[in-house]
Amino acid sequence: MINYYSSEDKIMKLVHPCRCNKCENPCKFGSGAFIKGEISKSAKLMGLKKKKFEKEYTEELTKFNTTLRRPKILREDDKPYGKCIFYEEDVGCKIHQAKPYECKVAMGCKSYGEELITWFDLKFFLNPEDKESLRQYKIYVESGGHVLDGAQLEHFKEKIKELDDYKDIKKSRHKDWDKILGLKDEDSK
Ligand code: SF4
Ligand code: SF4
Repeated sequence: MINYYSSEDKIMKLVHPCRCNKCENPCKFGSGAFIKGEISKSAKLMGLKKKKFEKEYTEELTKFNTTLRRPKILREDDKPYGKCIFYEEDVGCKIHQAKPYECKVAMGCKSYGEELITWFDLKFFLNPEDKESLRQYKIYVESGGHVLDGAQLEHFKEKIKELDDYKDIKKSRHKDWDKILGLKDEDSK
């Protein structure tokens, strides 16, 4: 039903602005990413300037070599997870009307919930034009990551071929990467 090419219109028809405990449970362990233009709307809802809102209430999240911002996670004891800064037990999401896109597509009770989140990652984090993004996606798929129709590695095979010998990294860093990666003896030229 949902694939790599699904449009935002189609996805928006599959999600609903509902609220219940099942969907709020993940808010106790993390938060979803904002896309372009959304931070200003959340800042406005909170009556804050975008810069102040960004600094006080958001943090960076990088996946597939793309960085977006998400609501801060309140971590305790250096745990990697924690409550979203906008989640309150009796209130739920304090920015429900202007919550991040990734939160909007989180549908805890739907059979296609996992597909929605994978679609978000492919649409907003994967950048097939960025070799490092594609390289990280390849590792994700080969490690058993969830894949949507249309986003199998075969789909990117021409671009993936170019990754095999890490030529792009070698070129961009101007270093002797064959030596660093142990593909060439220390003494060889
Ligand atoms: S999508 Fe389902 S689980 Fe999530 S808030 Fe709506 S009814 Fe609850
Ligand atoms: S922004 Fe709202 S919906 Fe998203 S994780 Fe935080 S509390 Fe939950």
